[in-house]
Amino acid sequence: MSVLEKQKCVIIGSGPAGYTAAIYAARAGLNPVLFTGKEPGGQLMITTDVDNFPGYPAGIMGPEMMEDFRKQAERFGTEIRYELITGVDFTGPVHILTTESGKNIEANTVIISTGATAKWLGLDSEKRLMNKGVSACAVCDGFFFRGMDVAVVGAGDTAAEEASYLAKLCPKVHLIVRRNEMRASKIMQERVKNTPNIVIHWNSETVEILGENETEAIRIKNNVNGSEEVIPVKGFFVAIGHQPNTSIFDNWLQMDSSGYLIAQQGSTKTDIPGVFVSGDAADKVYRQAITAAGTGCMAALDAERYLVEHGIS
Ligand code: NDP
Repeated sequence: MSVLEKQKCVIIGSGPAGYTAAIYAARAGLNPVLFTGKEPGGQLMITTDVDNFPGYPAGIMGPEMMEDFRKQAERFGTEIRYELITGVDFTGPVHILTTESGKNIEANTVIISTGATAKWLGLDSEKRLMNKGVSACAVCDGFFFRGMDVAVVGAGDTAAEEASYLAKLCPKVHLIVRRNEMRASKIMQERVKNTPNIVIHWNSETVEILGENETEAIRIKNNVNGSEEVIPVKGFFVAIGHQPNTSIFDNWLQMDSSGYLIAQQGSTKTDIPGVFVSGDAADKVYRQAITAAGTGCMAALDAERYLVEHGIS
């Protein structure tokens, strides 16, 4: 394998975690190189208003915020490459990363910030009304629907949490569950079932989201008797799981059964020395821009310490 290039710190991913890691690594003199991946800016690029990121009192659009992150990372000397890392080799003390164009890079430290991708139902109307009532994050967007009826689809812990969160803001939350039972933990199921303004529609799937320029209703179908029902809602939250973008680390790093990377508790260290993980690639619980940014900062500090401890300057 011909190694063409040596770097002290390579960051994979360009969401809040990756850019924050880059800001800290660049300021610490690690000359980081950040690979953006195929969706520069990550999940926030498909988000409109961000009202919960501290420091933006008037809110900001997701893409604009990521532009700010990028500029700040570049200001301190991060080299940004609009390319994908397609393979890794963590066999030796120095890590080999292969780019889309086939180039190999030797890196002393690697910060993984590849994020996760929300799963969608795959309906045309879902795509058309994305950010016009359709969302995959109640904590991010629920506030825009306070005082309005909404629906949540899914039956895991995320759907249960989102429904409970929305029930505090909205008069009625319709929870659309495709089977006659929920997958969520017992405690979360109990919470949902005991919340008077959450209406559970069992054995039901969403056929269509209705509305021209904004969500106005959903049409659901009962899987058992085939009957259909139209429910007026202004918000439609898809909570059917996320897929962490970690497949290139299969067989290299420890991950859970869903593919989330496992970091040592209280740190961003993976099981390979010099390889760190931040953001949603290792977080199936919080999944916020601010928590991703926080762990991005931690990963850069961990990488800096690793380099000092190994006498790499
Ligand atoms: P899960 O994979 O656990 O659940 C996904 C849910 O979506 C399932 O109930 C599934 O239905 C349903 N679903 C999937 N596809 C469709 C579809 N096309 N139409 C309708 N429904 C569909 O994902 P979660 O995001 O809920 O949770 C992921 C992991 O994160 C879990 O391990 C969970 O425990 C954990 N988590 C923990 C939290 C905490 O500790 N506070 C908070 C949130 C998540 P079915 O059951 O029929 O397959």
